[in-house]
Amino acid sequence: MSLGCAPTGIMATRRLYYDDSFQREFTARVLSCEPATGAPSPEGKASTWQAILDQTAFYPTSGGQPHDLGRIGDAEVLEVCDHHDEIVHVVDRRLECVPVKGLIDWPRRFDHMQQHTGQHLLSAMFQQHFGLPTVSFHLGTDVCTIDLRGQEPSEQILENSERAAGQMIFEDRRVSVRYGTAEELSRLGVRKEVDREGVLRAIEIAGVELQPCGGTHVKSTGQIGMILVRRCTKIRQDWRVEFVCGGRAEQRARRDFRWLRESAEKLSCAPEEVVSAIGRALAERDANFKNYRELLERLAAAEAALVLQSTPSDSDGLRVIDRIFSGMQPEFLGLFASELAKRENTIALLGDTDCGHVFFAQHPSSGKDMNALLRRVLEKFGGKGGGTRDFARGKVVDPSHLETALVLAREKLSGA
Ligand SMILES: [Zn+2]
Repeated sequence: MSLGCAPTGIMATRRLYYDDSFQREFTARVLSCEPATGAPSPEGKASTWQAILDQTAFYPTSGGQPHDLGRIGDAEVLEVCDHHDEIVHVVDRRLECVPVKGLIDWPRRFDHMQQHTGQHLLSAMFQQHFGLPTVSFHLGTDVCTIDLRGQEPSEQILENSERAAGQMIFEDRRVSVRYGTAEELSRLGVRKEVDREGVLRAIEIAGVELQPCGGTHVKSTGQIGMILVRRCTKIRQDWRVEFVCGGRAEQRARRDFRWLRESAEKLSCAPEEVVSAIGRALAERDANFKNYRELLERLAAAEAALVLQSTPSDSDGLRVIDRIFSGMQPEFLGLFASELAKRENTIALLGDTDCGHVFFAQHPSSGKDMNALLRRVLEKFGGKGGGTRDFARGKVVDPSHLETALVLAREKLSGA
């Protein structure tokens, strides 16, 4: 989401994070501070402002890494955007054009550096060991993703890449910044085609890879802490791999184990037995459901037989059975209606006052139209439903109208 960074008089902002991504505080001169376009407050005053400084340690959203937060003077930084050579800070109040102190929200930034450097490392492992290039990277608030192109990464490939990256973390390899032209970097082993002019910035993980990148990174692979590969899904022609690094990985692993432990407690088994216990519980549930369905069918048949016995036909030879239930399963009502309608010249009009469900069913010999009948009832009382000539089900909007709805249905039947 953009809070509206408008162009200003272009003057390159010095990017302090290029040379020291661990700088959390800095002083700078405010070069301009204008009301943010299109965001006036109800009082007619601007609610956000766009400040340009001569230098900044705030990282702007770019290259898959989100912007920093923090403070500049008394102002809260809400968003940071890259606009040509300038960095635009969207702040919550106007800054005077005097020297100010900037302070980066460090936990957020460090988290981004762990995720971002972890991404370099993980992408390098997929490329080197399995020939799978990364075509895009996204650092989300919850998980990070890389999109790989090529063959589907199997479970084994995901695990091996994660393990290979883990090995590089244990070896605590140096992460450093290098500058050079596209040609110089390509001679040093940058794989990616770069068509930018002038001096470029690249990130080197010692003995692992060299990549052009303007982002912020940790100083050595050890500071990534750990990388957890989560899952892989197909996105158009590519494979999206979810992963988390560092503090996030630790939090995620802790949360996952808490879920596992709670699941195990509910299933009264050990955590390592959860999968088989769930398998057994599901098989049991399916068997119970089948059993329940059979019993419901038998109950519906038995009740239908009793009701048919005690309900004589009308003078016109039709037997209309209407029944109102309260709190009965719609499934039972459907079965009951079907059982009643197995008998010749019989029509069942059933409803439930709790849920407002109605079931109209007939033996074809009755010669009426249940779907049309239901439509006429729903026209008057409101609701949804439909069906065929012999069987229709629906639901009236207000269950308290159910009794009158069935009276109406019966009237329509005898009137038709
Ligand atoms: Zn990077």
